[in-house]
Amino acid sequence: MEILADLHNHTEASGHAYSSVEEIAREAKKKGLKYIGITDHGPELPGEPDLSHIENIKELPLNIHGVQILKGVEANIVDQEGNLDVPESYIENLDIVLAGLHNISDESWNREGNTRALLNTMENEDVDIITHPGNPDFPIDRESFVLGAKESETLVEINNSSFVKSRAGSSKYCKEIALLCKKYGVPVIINSDSHISRDVGETDQALKLLKSIDMPKDLIVNSSLEAFESYFKKKNMKRIIKSSSRDYARALYSFAG
Ligand SMILES: [Zn+2]
Ligand SMILES: [Zn+2]
Repeated sequence: MEILADLHNHTEASGHAYSSVEEIAREAKKKGLKYIGITDHGPELPGEPDLSHIENIKELPLNIHGVQILKGVEANIVDQEGNLDVPESYIENLDIVLAGLHNISDESWNREGNTRALLNTMENEDVDIITHPGNPDFPIDRESFVLGAKESETLVEINNSSFVKSRAGSSKYCKEIALLCKKYGVPVIINSDSHISRDVGETDQALKLLKSIDMPKDLIVNSSLEAFESYFKKKNMKRIIKSSSRDYARALYSFAG
């Protein structure tokens, strides 16, 4: 199986990542990817760029080295109501919005609080993907989460980095989440969560997991260009209607072309 889009990549603008957009796009081209997401963290995580970074992300071209660039963010969920650290007025500038739980305060929520935070976040129709929900640092009620994703049509991320570099102990929870997605017919997206260009498009471990549970290909949205484009066209359409910006119309046409 081939992965054609990797929507979760951090650039050197994130204090703890080390490659430029150019380097990421070049690597994506080498790996045969058609789309990449440029998704630095929201500003609440220490060392991250401030909101002007997101405001000006329109400077990125639609296409670099033949790879379509989706301008996005990995926003931090800041409370159990599912509020993000990126205000709506900035989100209107973006093609994709990823959101996840990160260590941004001393306050630790329990399983119920984490689950509530994710369910409320997914009610926000701007949010496309929940990142690394298998993170053992943030226990959740996995069945409620997967059913919430189904109802809100939010994509569940299977994060390759969780198997190899970050969030030790994620594997068994990722597997449980993937099995629930299979059971309830909920689409997932495989992303690298790269922090250096050589990791862009690296999805081996996530693919191995999905293969081991016989995940139907049509539930992996970035394994087919057709499924991927139709999903994001639908999501982007909502945002384009809300915005009067010319960039959105151009971004839409770039999907079509
Ligand atoms: Zn993250
Ligand atoms: Zn990330």
